[in-house]
Amino acid sequence: MIEMLFRAIDGRVDELTSLTQDLIRFPTVNPPGEAYTPCAEYIGERLKAKGFAVEYVRGEGTPGDTDRYPRTNVIARYEGKRRGKTVHFNSHIDVVEAGEGWTVDPFEGVVKDGRVYGRGTCDMKGGLAASIIAAEVFIEQNPDFAGAIEISGTVDEESGGFGGVAYLASKGYFSAPRVDHVIIPEPLNKDRICLGHRGVWWAEIQTKGKIAHGSMPFLGDSAIRHMGALLDAFEEELFPALDKKQTVMPVVPEGARRSTLNLNSIHGGQTEDFRPGLPSPNVADACRLVIDRRFLLEEDLSDVKREVTEILDRLKRDRPRFDYAIRDLMEVHPTMTERDAPVVKAVAEGIQAIFDREPQYVISPGTYDQKHIARIGHIHDCIAYGPGVLDLAHQPDEWVGIEDMVQSAKVMAVALERLLQGH
Ligand SMILES: [Zn+2]
Repeated sequence: MIEMLFRAIDGRVDELTSLTQDLIRFPTVNPPGEAYTPCAEYIGERLKAKGFAVEYVRGEGTPGDTDRYPRTNVIARYEGKRRGKTVHFNSHIDVVEAGEGWTVDPFEGVVKDGRVYGRGTCDMKGGLAASIIAAEVFIEQNPDFAGAIEISGTVDEESGGFGGVAYLASKGYFSAPRVDHVIIPEPLNKDRICLGHRGVWWAEIQTKGKIAHGSMPFLGDSAIRHMGALLDAFEEELFPALDKKQTVMPVVPEGARRSTLNLNSIHGGQTEDFRPGLPSPNVADACRLVIDRRFLLEEDLSDVKREVTEILDRLKRDRPRFDYAIRDLMEVHPTMTERDAPVVKAVAEGIQAIFDREPQYVISPGTYDQKHIARIGHIHDCIAYGPGVLDLAHQPDEWVGIEDMVQSAKVMAVALERLLQGH
């Protein structure tokens, strides 16, 4: 049976390539969310012709959703002849801007040296195309299979997934009993299984001061100097402490196998818009810092927050006139699917069959749509597995290997066989 699936996929290489090219030609750049509807309709039309029931769901009222840029998602479902489990392949159709440095047209779908080039080839339209071919071939070869297969093309993953997977999950599209197993073909390399991701806490910290003439700063109170005191404390205490927090999570790259903090942006005092004139002399009465803290399964979000607020409270006690405000911008809890979960074992079998070795199990340093499937949909049998090379995501001259897509499609087909046919 498996051999038949592999042969059928080998017979579809040209189709897999042209499908990827077609998807790249929709410039689904986010922001602003360009060409979502035609791209979703292209996927929907194709799958409808293969017997899938197709639904379009607009993320009404979600960030960025307007009539000019509707957040159009597509969900296609193929019902098997008998009752059984449902396997869902979820791919985001949005891509980041092309940026500078390309040697080919980023939206032409150029094929060269066994690769398809273009923005979104690796992250993650190549993975979407592989999952479509895998599902179509599986259905053809197993017309009597039990259960159902779903394929979704969702929006806005790159900007948090609120108009895409989060919206759909809130409407029940990613919950039992509708869905049992989820594979997200994000580019984590064809022989690796991504079990989840670290947590995120974004916050904005404001230090407060008092405006005065810049020639007499002693009459005011500089919010920037207060922020400097906070940054000093971060350097002396917080960064060293975070470096020491190691995790059992197999995060790649290894540098991310600990807690991290990025100072995302900082601004204090007058706006920088004085150009081309000159600034006026003022003491800064406010300074704002946005922090991006990535945390581990071993950490509790309330402790993560407390590490920062304890430093702020101590400064407020010890440093004259220090005052601050802090507000949460985003919270995502870390998630890690168990290694013996059904979808993990099924994909591992596929990797064993194709590459003749155990998969590498990894955790992503950043988050992706798995967070919404776990937190809102309560489905924990979920992984990321796809053909792209992780390091190429968001880069100029992004590409996906055609052979990588073929091999990944075979792995996905084995997983379907295992999850839906039980062998
Ligand atoms: Zn992605």
